[in-house]
Amino acid sequence: MEDYRISKRKQIALIAHDYRKHDLIEWVKKNKDLLEKHHLCGTGTTARLVSEETGLEVKAFLSGPMGGDQQIGACIVNGEVDFMIFFWDPLTSQPHDPDVKALLRIAVLYDIPVAMNQSTADFILNSSIMQEEYQRNIVNYYDRIRKDNF
Ligand code: PGA
Repeated sequence: MEDYRISKRKQIALIAHDYRKHDLIEWVKKNKDLLEKHHLCGTGTTARLVSEETGLEVKAFLSGPMGGDQQIGACIVNGEVDFMIFFWDPLTSQPHDPDVKALLRIAVLYDIPVAMNQSTADFILNSSIMQEEYQRNIVNYYDRIRKDNF
């Protein structure tokens, strides 16, 4: 039986498309005291800029268009990322749109909290269970496939 708990100290992935990077950096600055209690990582450029602008340690994966979203998706599957702030750009299509879609699908499948805009990020970061351990609810697809087919 897999352990799908999100621990008190969360593994937070930070991602922002180019036109949203400024907003994400400002949001991280505003919430630095809360965020420094957790482990941070992010796609290449986002991680570097957040780290430079805030002084927080942010582990950098590859840049999004070079596979960084896919790396973060793999971390979600492996239980190494359990919380995501992803400010994607609703006005610009991205060369790696399929990767973005795949990442969002994996985040839903593995039931991790995801904020895609500032208001959601504010609400979840200030939620009363942010400092608690949390048991995720993951649909058992093997059971579902078996039920559908037999
Ligand atoms: P970046 O990637 O942080 O390397 O710019 C973000 C993205 O486009 O997914």
